[in-house]
Amino acid sequence: MFRLWKECEGAENIVISGHVRPDGDCVGSCMATYLFLKKVMPEARIKVFLEQPADIFSCIQDYDKIETECHIDEAPDIFIALDCEKTRLGAAEVLFDKAKKKINIDHHISNASGCGDVNYVVPTASSASELVYDVIDKEYMDLEIAKAIYIGIIHDTGIFQYSNTSPKTLQTAGELIAFGFDFPTLIDETFYEKTYVQNQILGRALLESIIFMDGKCAVSYVDQKTMAFYNATPKDLEGIVNQLRIVKGVECAIFMYEIGTQQYKVSLRSCKYVDVSKVATFFGGGGHVRAAGCTMNGSFYDVVNNLSEHIEEQMVQVKY
Ligand code: 5GP
Ligand code: MN
Repeated sequence: MFRLWKECEGAENIVISGHVRPDGDCVGSCMATYLFLKKVMPEARIKVFLEQPADIFSCIQDYDKIETECHIDEAPDIFIALDCEKTRLGAAEVLFDKAKKKINIDHHISNASGCGDVNYVVPTASSASELVYDVIDKEYMDLEIAKAIYIGIIHDTGIFQYSNTSPKTLQTAGELIAFGFDFPTLIDETFYEKTYVQNQILGRALLESIIFMDGKCAVSYVDQKTMAFYNATPKDLEGIVNQLRIVKGVECAIFMYEIGTQQYKVSLRSCKYVDVSKVATFFGGGGHVRAAGCTMNGSFYDVVNNLSEHIEEQMVQVKY
């Protein structure tokens, strides 16, 4: 069995990082790894690099130690890439390439073979955080590490509601809450709570949503002008696609926001049939069977038409 500490033996300089636009699982898995390695390897220089995570994650211990600027430094002895493949590391990718040993822990089906010298990639796992729990030595677990892992799991499973939740996920969560942190508050404050602006923009996106393909698809988008009006950032748009997915009769939800002229960051979700990872991968992105994303160019209608073609093709195949 892969043991993280064993894999890091003898390293003096370790860099931990995850994907661009880090979500709860990315932050949780990176911070749990950081807290664990710092504890068992106090002599090593360990850095965690991430694009600025949302403030809601500041409840994780050592959140203030996260480095958001990746200065090109000496080659790390070990680079640990979490919750992604190397091409989604953003500015940290150059350090990954230079590292003497590369470790990849991930659960994206679009990264099934892994990108490290050592890989622990389990596409059926709920989250990268659940995988971090597998590979750390349990006698060194503590409340703060447990909290970070728990945050990662709840974010990627939508509080244990998505189909990626397995009996093992729940068993892991049970072992984690036994450490005694205040999980109901954690769930409220990192998952359900919305700022006034987040609710306003959610309302607006729902108001302007369209259903098509006989009600099986729902789509909405937010343009840069609207984001500027609300003074919103991409982090304020999380959750909108999930709200579109639960419209009665909808199998597939598409949400996109404008990141440049005629360029959109696209989020895809499905309920039961459509493999959205396949759709996103076709357009250069990736993800999971029920949740995936990509970046696409063109007008809103071009993007919807291009995506629909691939979604419809799958729906026809299952005679949905
Ligand atoms: P979200 O829609 O929440 O941004 O992402 C859903 C899932 O797809 C997440 O697991 C995320 O990591 C993955 N994902 C989103 N965008 C991309 C992308 O551009 N490329 C890849 N490979 N995965 C993505
Ligand atoms: Mn994840």
